[in-house]
Amino acid sequence: MVATAVLAAVLIPWQRPPAPRADQLAALGELPPDKVSRAHEFHSALRPGSYGSMAVGLVLALVLGLTPLGAALVTLAGRPFGGHWVARALLGGLLVVLVAEAVTLPFAAWRHTILVRYGLSTQTWGAWAVDVLKGWAVGAVIGGLALLGFFTVVRLAPRWWWAWGAAGAALLVVLLSFVLPVLVEPVFNKFTPMAAGPLRTELLALAERDGVPVRDVLVADASRRTRAVNAYVSGFGPTRRIVVYDTMLTEATPAEVVSVTAHELGHAKDNDVLTGTIIGALGTAAGVVALYLLGFWGWLLRAAGVDSIAEPRALGLLIALAAVAGLVATPAQAFVTRRIEARADAHALALTADPATFESMQRRLGTVNLSEPDPPAWEHVLFATHPSTVERMAAARAWARGER
Ligand SMILES: [Zn+2]
Repeated sequence: MVATAVLAAVLIPWQRPPAPRADQLAALGELPPDKVSRAHEFHSALRPGSYGSMAVGLVLALVLGLTPLGAALVTLAGRPFGGHWVARALLGGLLVVLVAEAVTLPFAAWRHTILVRYGLSTQTWGAWAVDVLKGWAVGAVIGGLALLGFFTVVRLAPRWWWAWGAAGAALLVVLLSFVLPVLVEPVFNKFTPMAAGPLRTELLALAERDGVPVRDVLVADASRRTRAVNAYVSGFGPTRRIVVYDTMLTEATPAEVVSVTAHELGHAKDNDVLTGTIIGALGTAAGVVALYLLGFWGWLLRAAGVDSIAEPRALGLLIALAAVAGLVATPAQAFVTRRIEARADAHALALTADPATFESMQRRLGTVNLSEPDPPAWEHVLFATHPSTVERMAAARAWARGER
């Protein structure tokens, strides 16, 4: 817990580069009004489903965890196998998660209809369903391994499971961050090296000039599901890669792709994926210790109808606690990622020294992706993982004036 706090204090860029509100409003005024109102409508259409899904998901998690329902489901799943702990852990976990997923599935389908209506999604219902099933399959494999590991540790070390569990959970987070780009991302997208040509040459030269070793720039076939444009960096060490959506190459100008890549190089240079992984690993370890401590709270155990927090029948309770922790952690995580994103923006501005293209790139990202350019403050503070479009445009204007 202490280590997490210390590392967070050191690694998080608390200061953000200036993005004066006056510049934000000026930038907002220059955006095409029809695009702004369309983005506004789009987000108004999404909101009931997004918050409905959150609320229903949370209520269901609490019902699973704070009533004997979760324990009953786990018992049911284990019954054909004589209540063996492996069956309870794996099938019970699967059943409890499936029930939780099933209640939020209609909201996800609703969201899909809105994305299609606004022309953002290019997926048929069939392709959408395949994505949902793939997501569940990936979750089942990773979750199953985690549960099997956790309950094995509990059985081998009944008194010290929390210490081994915390170390194991942290290790799992590091391992996942390392292998997800190589093993899981290809389940959803095809990645191909960017074709040889002036753009590829320029991007690799940019990375070279930045002093960031990049073996390759990959293009993801994002157009199979979306018209949205994006780029990202994932993995670290030998699995680190910069990925550009194929939509970016058709929707944006080459100069804008350079600007986006400069932002991604900022993440690579500052080791943002590694930082996120370390904080995530320590946070997860702290979560296991917190779980152990909560296991002494008799009321919780009685509510869930279990004898111990470390038995498979307490899986519903684990899901309830994870849901509450997730809800509490979301605004803090969002704050941290907004700061990290602002730092990567500053890096892009410094590396390209081209604030005009940076601003046009932000305008492009915002309009194509139907981002709300200047979202409601409460929503921005609670959930936004990136600075808003007008903040990012304002940052470019401030940078151009020499305000750093
Ligand atoms: Zn970024």
